[in-house]
Amino acid sequence: MTALNENYLKLQGSYLFSTVAQRVAAYKKENPSAEVISLGIGDVSQPLVPAVVEALHKACEEMGHAETFRGYGPEQGYPFLRQAILQGDYLSRGILLSADEIFVSDGAKSDVANFQELFALDVRVALQDPVYPVYLDTNVMAGRTQSYQNGRYGGIIYLPCTETNRFVPALPREHADIIYLCSPNNPTGTAFTKQELQKWVHYAQEHKSIILFDSAYEAYITSDDVPHSIYEIPGAERVAVEFRSFSKTAGFTGTRCAYTVVPKGVQVTTREGKSVPLHALWLRRQTTKFNGVPYIVQRAAEAVYSPEGRAQTQAVINGYRENAVTILTALRCAGLTAYGGGNAPYIWLKTPKGLDSWAFFDKLLKEAQVVGTPGVGFGACGEGYFRLTAFNTAALTQQAAQRIAKLSF
Ligand code: PLP
Repeated sequence: MTALNENYLKLQGSYLFSTVAQRVAAYKKENPSAEVISLGIGDVSQPLVPAVVEALHKACEEMGHAETFRGYGPEQGYPFLRQAILQGDYLSRGILLSADEIFVSDGAKSDVANFQELFALDVRVALQDPVYPVYLDTNVMAGRTQSYQNGRYGGIIYLPCTETNRFVPALPREHADIIYLCSPNNPTGTAFTKQELQKWVHYAQEHKSIILFDSAYEAYITSDDVPHSIYEIPGAERVAVEFRSFSKTAGFTGTRCAYTVVPKGVQVTTREGKSVPLHALWLRRQTTKFNGVPYIVQRAAEAVYSPEGRAQTQAVINGYRENAVTILTALRCAGLTAYGGGNAPYIWLKTPKGLDSWAFFDKLLKEAQVVGTPGVGFGACGEGYFRLTAFNTAALTQQAAQRIAKLSF
């Protein structure tokens, strides 16, 4: 028999969303007339904006004519999209990068999951707790962790994000080679200020570490002191890789397009001490293993940067932001303590009266017919917290908020 990669056996079952679905299904079976509203979804509810749809149609038409048909494209992305990203997200903010440092992909999830394979198996990995689970799980699969005990994998440096530190983790006391930072954070909705992020860049410079910066939710930032890109921090261009996505910025969760910035100044080292640019390794990896994003999708993503595209996507984001305010207001009416929402589509509430995350889930479902996500599903430090999202429609969010506001704890 063929032996398996035993690291997969160390993974904890991803019971979170299936358990949520099971409990909701059981509740609906017992209460067939209940109108359950989900504020648990991490997916968007609004359709693609007209400028994007128009670009898709136009690109489809091009694909149907011999003169404009495109076959295999460059794995790193077409120059037109890399240039639009460069101008729209970086040069316009005073960040100097070059278009060939931008790699277009089919998702921040795949990029952030695949990127770890460029590093040795014995590098020390640090990550926030709670956080988007993909960083941890992909390092478990690769074999960078020991076994799982008491909610923790041996070999990982966990960076607790708690109420005490306002969900902004302290620097690790030990040496970390790779540091995953998610800002604005899923699930806490908290984002690093420039000053806070500067400390991490200094740490990475001192320790010769690499920061993998996931800013999938940067479009939701409203505070002036919160950077949209890690490259707003001086020196980051030598120590950081940045992951971005069109998923939550422009409703591309089904269309699929994202990008990763790997500046040429970020270096890794061989066992003999020779420096190698990470850029060269990622280029090699992508051109070998990745097929590129469809031409029509890249044209659609390009349209996000047109004046119409920008205005239309901003209007959608503003709608989600209003949902976040609606949810926060309702939670406060119910006497609950809640964080996030201001720079992210996520609201992170503290479960009351010692209820654990799952007990709160049951209470919210039974008493308000509202579904959310238990915080413990994002890491041990998420116990005692609960995530609500601003991605549902305005009408359903308002209805859910009215029910929540009437709850008593
Ligand atoms: N990064 C974070 C922090 C996320 O929360 C998500 C999706 O929920 C992703 C990345 C995935 O992005 P994409 O849809 O581009 O794969």
